[in-house]
Amino acid sequence: MKQKIRKGILTYSALLFPLTFFFMSPYVIIMSAAYGIVNGSALFFGFLLLFSMIGSRLFCGWLCPGGAIQEQAAHSNNKAWNGKWKNSSKYIIWFFWLALVVFLWISNGPLAVNFFNMYSLDSHIFVIYMIVVTLIYVFALATGKRGMCHSLCWMAPFMIIGEKCADFLHIPRFRLKAETENCISCGRCSKKCPMSLDVVEMVKTNQMDSNECISCLECADICPKQVIKFGISAKVK
Ligand code: SF4
Ligand code: SF4
Repeated sequence: MKQKIRKGILTYSALLFPLTFFFMSPYVIIMSAAYGIVNGSALFFGFLLLFSMIGSRLFCGWLCPGGAIQEQAAHSNNKAWNGKWKNSSKYIIWFFWLALVVFLWISNGPLAVNFFNMYSLDSHIFVIYMIVVTLIYVFALATGKRGMCHSLCWMAPFMIIGEKCADFLHIPRFRLKAETENCISCGRCSKKCPMSLDVVEMVKTNQMDSNECISCLECADICPKQVIKFGISAKVK
């Protein structure tokens, strides 16, 4: 039931994407910064960082339209896509992109805040929207399960930083827990994980925190022994 609700929310979020993609755009934030404007996507990325200090990556698993598009692509390519360099590339892209945005803000200050800067619902925006959706879909088809989340997503680093800050400050946040002793190593959790994580190994070693976990709870729902629990708690030292 939980997963039906999650998929329903993701589908609805994908349907609303023509109205919301301006607020998640890595391009619009640069164009706005060039005019000394802090736009809606900048504010939204800041919100995601703060939200993840309590909600971890629930946004990715339950609300992100890009995630919804990739989960559709996974019906055609369900290959695992996870690994050191596959996950690291997003940080390199993110670092240079954010450095450019900050440079433009500093160069074009004093800054003004305009949440709707460059927001438009003209018909040409629909063409841009279709291009964005196609690129996300094709990238996930070419790579594998949520390949873009692992390798390209410019929003994920904000949330991973938020999670790290919460753990550093011992702020309770949403996280998985495992009752390791009940696991029968059936492997269903790993197979089901949309982020290609080795959940069986996470359970066995009782290391349920992963930067790549999107809190979707697929693993908890598929487990026949209810090994995987979830809740809000601070990191155990
Ligand atoms: S580990 Fe579980 S909650 Fe995390 S992404 Fe994988 S299936 Fe979702
Ligand atoms: S689905 Fe449950 S029982 Fe099976 S390997 Fe994963 S945690 Fe263990």
